[in-house]
Amino acid sequence: MQTEKSSRLYKEAIELMPGGVSSPVRAFKPNPFYVSKAAGSKLFDVDGNEFIDYCLAYGALILGHANPEVKDALKEQLERGWLYGTPIELEVKYAKLIRKFYPSIEMLRFVNTGSEATMSALRLARGFTGKDKIVKIEGSFHGSHDAVLVKAGSGATTFGIPNSAGVPSDFVKNTLQVPFNDTEKLSELLEKNKDVACVIMEPVMGNSALIIPEGDYLKEVRRITKENDVLLIFDEIITGFRLSLGGAQECYGVKPDITTLGKIAGGGFPIGIYGGRKEIMSRISPSGDVYQAGTFSGNPMSLIAGYTTVKILERDRIVERTAEKTKKLCCGIRDLLNDKEGIELGQISSMFCIYFGKTPKNYHEALRLNKEAYMNFFRKLLEHGVFFPPSQFESCFMSYAHTEEDIERTIEAFSSAI
Ligand SMILES: *Cc1c(COP(=O)(O)O)cnc(C)c1O
Repeated sequence: MQTEKSSRLYKEAIELMPGGVSSPVRAFKPNPFYVSKAAGSKLFDVDGNEFIDYCLAYGALILGHANPEVKDALKEQLERGWLYGTPIELEVKYAKLIRKFYPSIEMLRFVNTGSEATMSALRLARGFTGKDKIVKIEGSFHGSHDAVLVKAGSGATTFGIPNSAGVPSDFVKNTLQVPFNDTEKLSELLEKNKDVACVIMEPVMGNSALIIPEGDYLKEVRRITKENDVLLIFDEIITGFRLSLGGAQECYGVKPDITTLGKIAGGGFPIGIYGGRKEIMSRISPSGDVYQAGTFSGNPMSLIAGYTTVKILERDRIVERTAEKTKKLCCGIRDLLNDKEGIELGQISSMFCIYFGKTPKNYHEALRLNKEAYMNFFRKLLEHGVFFPPSQFESCFMSYAHTEEDIERTIEAFSSAI
């Protein structure tokens, strides 16, 4: 594998940007590869290498890279301008489409990133209930704003700083934590604390490895939050349009009060969405007293890419068909893991994860995974032209653009790397 150009660029980047990157998990040793183009299931780097991509911008791309239909829609929009700072028809069309798949979302607002969506959803929950405390799940990741940078997953855990410096303890004294898959601890906490506005959670955790809810856990969480008069926020920024068109809430039959969407919803462009019951959402400015605003919110490029993507997902049953492809790959991987002690595989829909250790059911167990072994495996895969996320704590994703040949090549690469 040639790495000359990438390593030269990285040397320069390290002097120009912290860790040489624009977002932490992208940095790995000896150096990340610099992408020059992408198409379908593949990334191509500046040194002429080609990689089958299972990171897919951390789950944002379910159609693969540079989908031609999305590209055409974007081009057509470009011709008509790309930022107006006024309402557009597409907002109405896209909002209606989202509401069709997410009956829990009666009203919504478009924002620019997932972080912004969860930040705004938390403010809204507090404004609506008049209570200050929030409960999050240990190891869940909701973006990089103060209130949720406590035992946060993703890059925060990868780099050993789940509690970030620079977040005043006063800002997070109202952030309480419970373990995933544990309804008893949640019940106890909510009975003890009567000033909790909401519970925010990833219904399937995708940022502390992949952690799947057990049995009726999510239904129980819904029951407990209701009984305690606490709002339930599902952060479906990964799971939305991935587990099914209607997200984890559709798969598990649970109706949250507020939902956040992002990633796939922007079709490869920056987006965040938060929505929920009309009574709650009406509290947002200008119809209500909870302030939130943004220059680029609901911008035409993100909306056209997202809208076109979701229309394709619906028309071609992409979500189910991508899950089938993932099952096929995972079958092949399972066969290879049969005689391997201490390496396990988790899969749900088109998300999967190789655990170097036991399949975790919460953050505490995820922290016990062998991240050095994972990184060795990751580097070996890379040499064989397969790109998994560069951290044990991220989950792998499949796209509809992945082919039979990709799956075969990946299983071969996996076999050599393992
Ligand atoms: C990626 C992610 C976010 C943050 O979204 P950004 O667009 O990166 O700000 C929030 N919550 C979850 C569950 C995510 O996976």
